Amino acid sequence: MSPQDSFEIFPWNENLETGIEIIDEQHKKLIELLNQLTDTLVKGDAVELTRVFDDLAAYAKYHFETEEAIWAPCFGDDPWLVSHQDTHSSFLPKVIELKEEQGDKPLVEIVEHVVKFLIRWLTFHIIKNDKRMAIVMRKVEAGFSLEDAKEISDEEMSGSARVLIDTVLNMYDALSSRTIALMRERIKREKAEEQLRESNLKLADLAKTDQLTELFNRRHLDDIFERELRRATREKRFLSFIMFDLDYFKKLNDRYGHFHGDLALKRVGQELKENCRRPGDYVFRLGGEEFGVLIADQLSQNVREFAERIRTAIEGLSIPNLDSEVADHLTVSVGAVIKVPTSKDTVDTYMKDADTTLYRAKKLGRNRVAVLD
Ligand code: GH3
Ligand code: MG
Ligand code: MG
Repeated sequence: MSPQDSFEIFPWNENLETGIEIIDEQHKKLIELLNQLTDTLVKGDAVELTRVFDDLAAYAKYHFETEEAIWAPCFGDDPWLVSHQDTHSSFLPKVIELKEEQGDKPLVEIVEHVVKFLIRWLTFHIIKNDKRMAIVMRKVEAGFSLEDAKEISDEEMSGSARVLIDTVLNMYDALSSRTIALMRERIKREKAEEQLRESNLKLADLAKTDQLTELFNRRHLDDIFERELRRATREKRFLSFIMFDLDYFKKLNDRYGHFHGDLALKRVGQELKENCRRPGDYVFRLGGEEFGVLIADQLSQNVREFAERIRTAIEGLSIPNLDSEVADHLTVSVGAVIKVPTSKDTVDTYMKDADTTLYRAKKLGRNRVAVLD
């Protein structure tokens, strides 16, 4: 069974056997209930916790009665039985007192405290009292007088400290194997969580990336643009948007095929990326053969120069487009909106203005930069 399936806080140990079958069976049942209590405690189900706790208390009461009825014929009113009964009858009030002492603490904390007490109490009580009385009973049954049987039992039990240590160490062995198993589980879980975090990050990256060019996609532009626009408006700083549209790209596709069209889009994407290395620059594929660059905090002249540099760089890629009506290679038209935004500006107005400006560049003969400022 894996450690998650069942928690055994109190493993049964042979040293706990008294040799009286019914008592041993009941002790095992008590310990099973204690283990169940811990299991419920770990799972954090408060209703179930109260139920198992009540079961345990009721079973302890029943067990004490059975045990005392077994001892009674042998011990009569002997002080050993009287003190044994006292220990039994102080048990439940002690548990209840412990529960109440913990006051307003959460139930799980209270029960954890009580579980610890029960483990100590049971181990100690079984080894120190029950086993001692069981020996007396066996000796009386074998014909010894009660006084002689008590003496023999005391002698036999004089090594009980050793038995106690042995029991505790055996329990410790079982528990340490379990702890190691739990530690392994924890490490496995931590690794799985780490992988999950990484996959989530990858997924988040994927959601904002255009698959062909590996640039940011249109959806991510909306997020970033909104944020940058608010900031620029508030701080009265430049925010510029540049729109790029490849010239006669349909003709490139038609002549060289869609595959070469895709390669051209990738190379243009790379070129844009390499030219946008400042922290305030963001490059997007807006869709089809259109790209956008958002530039924060740059004065008008710089943005103009930047747009012109990109146009030249794309031309410099010398991607053949023999059917283009403006060159024998791939070129781009550019529309740039350069401004310090006011409260009237929205992502939409920026996009519309950039589009109109780009259209002007197309109208004026393509392969050029038009600016609105
Ligand atoms: P203009 O100079 O007026 O911009 O002409 P154009 O041909 O570039 O413009 P148009 O809008 O007529 O055509 C754009 C072309 O871009 C059409 C379409 O086949 C192509 N395209 C859009 N997305 C992709 C893509 O992902 N891969 C490829 N290979 N082509 C694409
Ligand atoms: Mg287009
Ligand atoms: Mg085009």
